[in-house]
Amino acid sequence: MVDSLSSSLRRVVVLGTGGTIAGRAASGGDNIGYTAGQVGVADLLGGIDAPEGLVLVAEQVAQLDSKDMDFGVWVQLARRCAFWLAEADVAGVVITHGTDTLEETAFFLQAVLAPDKPVVLTCAMRPATSLSPDGPQNVRDAIAVAATSSAQGVTVVCAGVIHSAMDVQKVHTYRQDAFASGDAGPVGYVEEGAVRRLRDWPRSQAGGNSRILEADEKAIALSPRVEILTSHAGASGAIVDLLLQERAAGCADPMRGLVLAATGNGTVHHALEAAALRAQDAGVAVLRATRCTSGRILPRPDDKLRNAGALTPVKARIALMLELIGKAA
Ligand code: ASP
Repeated sequence: MVDSLSSSLRRVVVLGTGGTIAGRAASGGDNIGYTAGQVGVADLLGGIDAPEGLVLVAEQVAQLDSKDMDFGVWVQLARRCAFWLAEADVAGVVITHGTDTLEETAFFLQAVLAPDKPVVLTCAMRPATSLSPDGPQNVRDAIAVAATSSAQGVTVVCAGVIHSAMDVQKVHTYRQDAFASGDAGPVGYVEEGAVRRLRDWPRSQAGGNSRILEADEKAIALSPRVEILTSHAGASGAIVDLLLQERAAGCADPMRGLVLAATGNGTVHHALEAAALRAQDAGVAVLRATRCTSGRILPRPDDKLRNAGALTPVKARIALMLELIGKAA
């Protein structure tokens, strides 16, 4: 399949959030000793020509190292996406973002917006000051996807590969092709500005989850606290019990959800499992997500703790937060 660009004049909006793509180092040869989130998004577009029939619009939403991403920025970003996507002449939105939590932001936006136009996150593994930065090509490729008339849903574009928000994971610490889509495989590729699609775009759903977009600042600040604990050889229930004590003592922001980063097909060390069951009995929402980078948890009839299917622990945490917010409505 080769998807064609729309013929009439349209806008692609590029929202900046920071990351290595906007990073600056003291020397061009330094690809790791940089500070992320320094260069403004309008400057990142310098030297990138809009494809024919398109106008680029830049807007800075945040300027941070994505390791420090939080729920408040996600909501702000989702609101800006919703605003621009509602404009008739906007073909799609590109978001420049750090690689570290890119898959979390992508999953959050897909869960909240499920847009019928494309929202394309892109990034870089080398700072803007690098002798050979990867950011400009990634931005060009992301713009090509955002301008594709048949595209929809939230995707990630990096090193010429298009990943679905549902499947994408950062899998490499250093290489420019740092993302993979596990068993599902990529949605497609971008080759010299043309999209070669292999499978369906992420699904769209009318209206998305608009309640979150309308939440006031207080509600956002009170987003439910969901912790992630890893099951491993020699694991214990000590941290769960401390969190339960904190909860019982009436702390301001108690744990409301717990994701267990479980081994294999959702198995959990017996000591951690016993503590997680105590948490579940105390009213904490508990979800098991596999530590494996591919595959899904296949349920068993004797399961006492819910499982997150194919979601990774970090995505399961977001799903659980959204579920808890939905229940509080
Ligand atoms: N720490 C950076 C960030 O996520 C890493 C990157 O962008 O590659 O913002």
